[in-house]
Amino acid sequence: MIDARCPLCDLNDKDGLWANDELVVISAQIAGVGTICRVVWRAHVHEMSDLGLAERRAFMDTVFAVEATMKRHARPTKMNLASLGNFVPHLHWHIIPRYQEDAYFPDAIWAAARRPGAEHPLSDELLRAALCEALGQPRKSRL
Ligand SMILES: [Zn+2]
Repeated sequence: MIDARCPLCDLNDKDGLWANDELVVISAQIAGVGTICRVVWRAHVHEMSDLGLAERRAFMDTVFAVEATMKRHARPTKMNLASLGNFVPHLHWHIIPRYQEDAYFPDAIWAAARRPGAEHPLSDELLRAALCEALGQPRKSRL
């Protein structure tokens, strides 16, 4: 299923950090926070309950692997996981390292900023290598 108006249906795999047949891991830079990751299910579905049990397990195994990888390399105050989809209703999870000195802490990163915030960037090269170590080699035809 693809929705032509959906930005996550239109993901370019070359921008991905890791991918397989079912999902893609991408990074993003959030002002006042730094690097976050998103794990995006390839098919345009809205909810976790739209997936079968094995698909849910595979999705969350990847989300937790990304969380552990980011925690190890970013050394945050706290890790946040979120699946909202109110603006982009294509199933995806946000994996967000949080820091006491980031712009929003202790609120969610979608709240009003409390301060300018120190940013904690992680390079795509580092994340790619770390995710390959955690998840194995990505499917080469897509990345
Ligand atoms: Zn979509």
